[in-house]
Amino acid sequence: MNCVDEYGRPRTVKIGPHVYRILYSKESWKKYAPTQRRRDNYGITLAEQCVILINTKRLNLSQMRDTVLHEVLHAIFALHGFATMPIDVPETTDLEEVIVLLLAPNVLNVMRENPHLLEWLTDETP
Ligand SMILES: [Zn+2]
Repeated sequence: MNCVDEYGRPRTVKIGPHVYRILYSKESWKKYAPTQRRRDNYGITLAEQCVILINTKRLNLSQMRDTVLHEVLHAIFALHGFATMPIDVPETTDLEEVIVLLLAPNVLNVMRENPHLLEWLTDETP
């Protein structure tokens, strides 16, 4: 399967061992995001299904790139169980440092494994 769609947008992204599908269609948004709250979102990451939904109706191209990256970061957090497990961070721990330590190697890895995503995200076409 081609990893970009007919508009050059990434259709898949590998995050850790998982391949997420990135869905842009109105139909997929309706299928996976039926509630009103979710209808108002720009994007949603469904870690259980390895799906990222993008609400294209509400976004221009640069906002769409921002939103795709935003959802990739959520998927990185999900990779580490942050979405389902309570985080027990001792009071003496610098939470910012914990978050940055978690993100940096994973973002680097996602960039390395998904050159099509990186190319699309850094394209400056408005
Ligand atoms: Zn978010």
